Amino acid sequence: MTARLLIVGPQGSGKGTQGVRVGEALGIPVVSTGDVFRANVKDGTELGLQVTSIIDAGDLVPDELTSAVVRDRLGQADAAEGFLLDGYPRNLAQVLHLDEFLEGREESLDAVIALVVPREESLSRLTARAAEQGRADDTEEAIATRLGIYERETAPILDVYGTRGIVDEIDGVGSLDEVTARIFAALEARGITATPAS
Ligand code: AMP
Repeated sequence: MTARLLIVGPQGSGKGTQGVRVGEALGIPVVSTGDVFRANVKDGTELGLQVTSIIDAGDLVPDELTSAVVRDRLGQADAAEGFLLDGYPRNLAQVLHLDEFLEGREESLDAVIALVVPREESLSRLTARAAEQGRADDTEEAIATRLGIYERETAPILDVYGTRGIVDEIDGVGSLDEVTARIFAALEARGITATPAS
């Protein structure tokens, strides 16, 4: 199934998990900028060294660098027929970078899945994840920084995509399966289905 999707939500909204589920069901690669950065940090690459302190503080990696990483990834063969972006674009400048890139390929996003989770719920999920996984950027201070950036810089991108009529707001509170079912119902309404229509 060809589908070019973006999943957006505050940290702790479950967007990573839901993104992987959607990507697997539709057979499209999930491109998570957070995962790409973390893998580079772990492997000690030049990119990893550049971004370690930024990520640990919960700040945004510079737009040019992030957009170059995404362009490179989307240029790989497996993304030719579709992809799900998780965590990019994260501000208006990145929306413009992505627009320019996709226009150059005569492509556009088909749908933006916006997970809606109240701040208190995101906070308590992130605090629980910090205890379980010990992610370096799950400190109280970095969490507050990331949620603040989400509200100030990322939430406004939904207005831009909203004017294009491609945003599906999904209630992100509930069990993983409930939220997944809501996402698929919204995608199906756009003709994006996990199984080919007969
Ligand atoms: P995430 O796993 O999506 O929460 O991303 C983890 C961290 O990677 C973020 O807190 C940022 O430091 C960095 N990052 C991920 N995506 C982006 C992006 N689109 N722009 C800038 N920084 C990003």
